[in-house]
Amino acid sequence: MAFEHTLRSPVECSGVGLHSGAPVKLRILPAHAGSGIVFRRTDLDGFEIEAVSRNVARVSYATSLMKKGVLISTTEHLLSAFIGTGVDNAIVELDNLELPILDGSAQPFVAMVESAGLRQQRRKRSYLRMRKEVELRDGNKFIAVYPARGYSVAYNIDFPHPLIGKETFEIDLSGDRYAREVAPARTFGFREDEKAMREMGLIRGATPENCIVLTREGVENGPLRYPDEFIRHKVLDLIGDLALLGHRILGRVVADRAGHAMHTALVSRILRDSSLWEQVTADEVAEAVPSFAALAPRPA
Ligand SMILES: [Zn+2]
Repeated sequence: MAFEHTLRSPVECSGVGLHSGAPVKLRILPAHAGSGIVFRRTDLDGFEIEAVSRNVARVSYATSLMKKGVLISTTEHLLSAFIGTGVDNAIVELDNLELPILDGSAQPFVAMVESAGLRQQRRKRSYLRMRKEVELRDGNKFIAVYPARGYSVAYNIDFPHPLIGKETFEIDLSGDRYAREVAPARTFGFREDEKAMREMGLIRGATPENCIVLTREGVENGPLRYPDEFIRHKVLDLIGDLALLGHRILGRVVADRAGHAMHTALVSRILRDSSLWEQVTADEVAEAVPSFAALAPRPA
């Protein structure tokens, strides 16, 4: 993957937003090399918001972008799918304020990219290669990135629940494991939090079809796709939030009990200090990491 990639043709889907419950049509279009990922509100005269850190707005249960008062909410699953499938440039049109939740995972977005196919562009892909470590702490939450030859993400969670407890998952994203091991992992929520969240209007679009519902004892709407689906979904979210760097990272990211707020805090901390990293092209990376050169787009 020495060069940037976009989609071969447009693809679309429709659904509802998890948090807003708003119906939305989403269309992914090919885009020029060097343009990155750009969201476009077709219901607001095509207003565009770039998927980069400076547009991050509100971050609690999901990651939202905002520019001049225009909101795009819950970007993390689609951005995660783009990193996992090797899409560098795309225009994402939507006709409402929130991306569709679909089945709660990134798998439908991966399937859309695969059905469109990838087109190689002339521009060499560039990476942010970490030169120094960055560690952020907030109580018992932790997130860090360390210099490394490839891109990997490790996550730990510790939820007091019989099906979760302590879980750890690590993935090297220079390989092809993402689509099989991360993309299908779904969003989850706790039944005991549901009433309060519904009353606050935070989960208007949640249904048993787009969210794993955990009771005190187990899962209400099983079966799970993986025994450790929860931690895999945290990894999925983290990859999507790190995409707001605007470039792929070369480093090892480690997170412990973090969430969207800490993921995006790491992104802005990295971007604020350019002595922490250097921008390198895929050629320079391939010399150091042969597997990057061998990595081809998945056949569509
Ligand atoms: Zn998520």
